[in-house]
Amino acid sequence: VADQIPLVDYLALGAVPRLIAHECTACGARFFDRRNACASCTGTSFHDVQVPREGTVRAFTIVSLAAPGIPVPFVAAVVDCDGTSVRGNLVNVLPDPDHVSLGMRVRLTTVKVGTDGSGVEAIGYGFEPVG
Ligand SMILES: [Zn+2]
Repeated sequence: VADQIPLVDYLALGAVPRLIAHECTACGARFFDRRNACASCTGTSFHDVQVPREGTVRAFTIVSLAAPGIPVPFVAAVVDCDGTSVRGNLVNVLPDPDHVSLGMRVRLTTVKVGTDGSGVEAIGYGFEPVG
């Protein structure tokens, strides 16, 4: 098995991949980037929480123009994972309005995004339809 490293530090790899958010201990706001103070209440204390793996598509855009080297079209979405808003691409689905809709149920999955010269795989995440 090749070594794997997550593309972003809030993706925890394993038998079951998870997204890890930093939750403000004062107000419960969740953030994926490291920050010194909460954007909602200016609290400075955070703890890590696991984000539910399943969610609902709240917004999406079918992207047909992107920087050179990025395959298009793809679906960029905002997924509501039981109250935590997560930005990610939809994968394992045809990128057209017949197959993607608001309110569809999706589940976190991992996507291999590249391999370096020593065989280490970089792993990103996406959301795929449930069922
Ligand atoms: Zn806060």
